[in-house]
Amino acid sequence: MEGQIAAAAALLQQSRQAVALTGAGLSTPSGIPDFRSPSSGVWEKVDPMAVASLAAFRRHPQAFFDWVRPLTNTILTAQPNAAHLALAHLECYGPLKAIITQNIDMLHTRAGSKTVYEVHGHLREATCMSCGQVRAAEPFLIQVIEAKTIPVCPQCGGVMKPNVILFGEALPWSVFQQAQSAAATCDLMLVAGSSLEVAPVGDLPYLAKRNRARLIIINYGETHLDGLADIIIRGNVAEVLPLLVQSFLPQS
Ligand SMILES: [Zn+2]
Repeated sequence: MEGQIAAAAALLQQSRQAVALTGAGLSTPSGIPDFRSPSSGVWEKVDPMAVASLAAFRRHPQAFFDWVRPLTNTILTAQPNAAHLALAHLECYGPLKAIITQNIDMLHTRAGSKTVYEVHGHLREATCMSCGQVRAAEPFLIQVIEAKTIPVCPQCGGVMKPNVILFGEALPWSVFQQAQSAAATCDLMLVAGSSLEVAPVGDLPYLAKRNRARLIIINYGETHLDGLADIIIRGNVAEVLPLLVQSFLPQS
């Protein structure tokens, strides 16, 4: 693995405009389960479409909040891990211009990263399903965790939905456009902790490759884009990313 990390560091040296694409694997070392993965256990008792789709949320918000409660609690108490910190470092001192993330846990921004495109939304804000008012989500989430009730809009009494993208819901358009543009113009894409299974985000490396960007994939499992990658590193992102950033920035 040392040789691959050195080779990846050499690609970073040549890069002027790198973009990272991160997924659930980046946050599992912080204790957040990969809730799209069947092996995470999150879906053992419920059908995702029955609780975490937009249609289900509208029909039966209590079931959604009952399901999301333990996950919310985990996310609110989780800390960024060495992989998040390494990427924040690479933005500050290296060629990394943006992070495109499928994660809703806000750990990249908490680690200090500045340009983060949260294409599947985030738990920072919540939107009223009736009047559309957007508010900070934390007080509502704490209410969900502690009082186990449905959070409602202080203005109109409508149900407050966290700004996470549910199944059957469109991605936030302007955020996804910015992510697409970052992918299409980068000269290096670093995929970390994503199996690239969820479209359309999983297809962004194609845009990078069309611009002749280099592609580095750091992930435990295989991805459908491994054939396009210049370097593949199979390992724990919380170990590999710090080593990569250290060999790129040995003085820091
Ligand atoms: Zn409202």
